[in-house]
Amino acid sequence: MVASTETIAQFLAEALQAPLSFDVESDVRDELKKLKGLPLIENGCVYGEDWDLYDSYKKGDAEFTPPAPMKEKFSRLEGDFLHVFHPVYSNDRSSVIGALYLRASTAILEQKINRYLVTMGIGLICLVFITYLLAARFQRIISGPILKLAKVTEHITRDADYSVRVRKEGDDEIGVLYTGFNNMLEQIQLREKQRDQAEAEQKRLLVELEEKNKELEQVVYVTSHDLRSPLVNIQGFSKELGYSLDELNELLGGDNIPGEVKEKFAMILEEDIQDSLKYILSSTTKMDSLLSGLLKLSRVGRTATTFGDVDMNELITEVSNAFEFQVKEGGVELNVDELPPCYGNDVQLNQLFSNLLNNGLKYLDPERAGKISISGREDDEENVYWVSDNGVGICQEHQKKVFEIFHRLNPTETQGEGLGLTIVNKIVSRHSGRIWVESEPGKGSTFYVTLQKPKELDEPVKKA
Ligand code: ADP
Repeated sequence: MVASTETIAQFLAEALQAPLSFDVESDVRDELKKLKGLPLIENGCVYGEDWDLYDSYKKGDAEFTPPAPMKEKFSRLEGDFLHVFHPVYSNDRSSVIGALYLRASTAILEQKINRYLVTMGIGLICLVFITYLLAARFQRIISGPILKLAKVTEHITRDADYSVRVRKEGDDEIGVLYTGFNNMLEQIQLREKQRDQAEAEQKRLLVELEEKNKELEQVVYVTSHDLRSPLVNIQGFSKELGYSLDELNELLGGDNIPGEVKEKFAMILEEDIQDSLKYILSSTTKMDSLLSGLLKLSRVGRTATTFGDVDMNELITEVSNAFEFQVKEGGVELNVDELPPCYGNDVQLNQLFSNLLNNGLKYLDPERAGKISISGREDDEENVYWVSDNGVGICQEHQKKVFEIFHRLNPTETQGEGLGLTIVNKIVSRHSGRIWVESEPGKGSTFYVTLQKPKELDEPVKKA
């Protein structure tokens, strides 16, 4: 607006040059009248050489006071108007012979701006509407299939149903995605099926194993139980035979038996039969302890056990009291630390620690004074208890084997059946614990046992 008003002023000032030079008033008026055709220009004034008002132009009836003239070019926006001054030069442009003033209204400009704003607003609304339509269409094309996929995933997660498939609707990228998704589902379904089958097979095998185990325990129980009565008979009759032998010996002492026969009989009765009887008796004793060991072992698995919190200090006191005689007799130093309570069956735990303490005493080194200690500590998940001795120790390759049934390292040196640690191992596994040994030949052994923490920590009770 400023530029166009200044241009108008420049042209008009050029046109006024002649009428002003020659002082033709009518021509000046005619020139000013031309301003009528310009809607922006509200007023125009022409100043002569002496800077008096020469003529003026006014559009409409609004009050207008011509301003004081200015000799230089000037333009300024003030209020609702633009004020422009332009000098009128002489023909040879050597001097200023007057001035032109134009006052243009900015009202039209504001109207124009408002019109533009309204148009822009409408355009913007149309644009938003079109965008919305496009977005809705694109959503149907792009988000729709993805949302469908998400729904299927949700269904799978909720119901663990891998048999569902997404229906493919095209060969575009979404179609490829659907195919991949369906393939993945097929793979998962197949693996699920295989896993279920493996689990079912595992369960079946476990049941079978449990039944076989029970059967085996039953066989061990029945045989060890039933073999004991004939054994008792053999023991009894062997003793009877011993008495009869004594009687025969007495009879042989009589005078009516010839010396030669006496001698022969004495050899048979005192050496052959006595020796045989000794062997029979020692074998039956051995067999008896073997059978009672087997019976104990089968009982660990067979008897129903009640579990509860166990005061281990009380339990170990009971165990060590039972071994008081052996401890004193062997001059052994037995130390029992403060032990944390645990969760288990007190009868079986008593047997467990009795076996460990018994072994500790049995396998002491006769070369040095025996020392045995029983200790325990609380770990994060479980409690650990250990029985240490300074006995003969166990070499590395036998440390795992000692828990196997009938495994003995030096069968001739000590008495035993190789069942004590097998029973211990079984009790530990019934208590969901672990057992291991750390040992060095010539230095001693430590047997570690882990047991569950008590369920009610506040009140450990001994009797389960
Ligand atoms: P047993 O003592 O009747 O032979 P066990 O099952 O209790 O049977 O022990 C198996 C073998 O482990 C024993 O023969 C012995 O050689 C070894 N053993 C067990 N405890 C100890 C120990 N504290 N020190 C050294 N050796 C041991």
